[in-house]
Amino acid sequence: APALSVRELRKTYAGGVEALKGVSLDVDPGDFYALLGPNGAGKSTLIGIVSSLVNKTSGEVSVFGVDLARDRDAAMRLLGLVPQEINFNLFEKPFDILVNYAGFYGIPRREALVRAEQELRAAQLWDKAQVMSRTLSGGMKRRLMIARAMMTRPRLLILDEPTAGVDIEIRRGMWRTLREINAAGTTIILTTHYLEEAESLCRNLAIIDHGRIIEQGPMRTLLAGL
Ligand code: ADP
Ligand code: ADP
Repeated sequence: APALSVRELRKTYAGGVEALKGVSLDVDPGDFYALLGPNGAGKSTLIGIVSSLVNKTSGEVSVFGVDLARDRDAAMRLLGLVPQEINFNLFEKPFDILVNYAGFYGIPRREALVRAEQELRAAQLWDKAQVMSRTLSGGMKRRLMIARAMMTRPRLLILDEPTAGVDIEIRRGMWRTLREINAAGTTIILTTHYLEEAESLCRNLAIIDHGRIIEQGPMRTLLAGL
């Protein structure tokens, strides 16, 4: 089964904005996939629906063959989400943030302690494990969000504009972390409005505009046509 399958997805918000007008896409297991498009295109709505934060109007979504409408909990266990806004407690330490998150998902404490160290090392944050997270740089905070999402060992990691508004140095550090996660076998989907980011990271992409996919395919093929 595809890591993500979306069929004829539509979303009309209360008030009448048609954010998605029949979107279909498949993401293969192991892929690094970009949803590229300008502000307002519908990217956040799409990943909001996939991660069960937004209700769809119609259409079908499945994650590794698990239908979201039929077995939402099972689908959510396969998926990790890195939201756009920093949303951890700035007055907690990175290590505690990860361990508490794992606890929330029912991971035994002993296992959570092991994973927290692994994920902080993978995100190059092990030396910051015990500082107040408020003192982390912007790039470190964003890598901490990635480390947190990886605590549940998702098979599919979804990131909403992970590098929006950060400078190129920070972006490169995050790219490195994401490449390593993908190389270790996790499927990644990210939204971005930077072509350069999609080009540098992703194998496949969909270009979305005004709630519709206007191009879809391997990065190399699409770049050749631009
Ligand atoms: P993107 O992530 O590509 O910037 P969004 O999915 O956030 O696009 O938005 C798509 C469209 O839906 C935009 O016109 C946006 O204003 C609208 N929209 C997004 N969220 C809501 C909401 N909660 N209520 C009403 N309209 C919304
Ligand atoms: P993005 O384009 O990255 O999604 P936005 O600024 O469009 O960022 O949206 C930020 C938040 O506001 C999101 O939670 C989105 O759902 C909500 N939002 C966006 N547009 C509208 C809207 N027209 N009405 C209500 N909520 C909206």
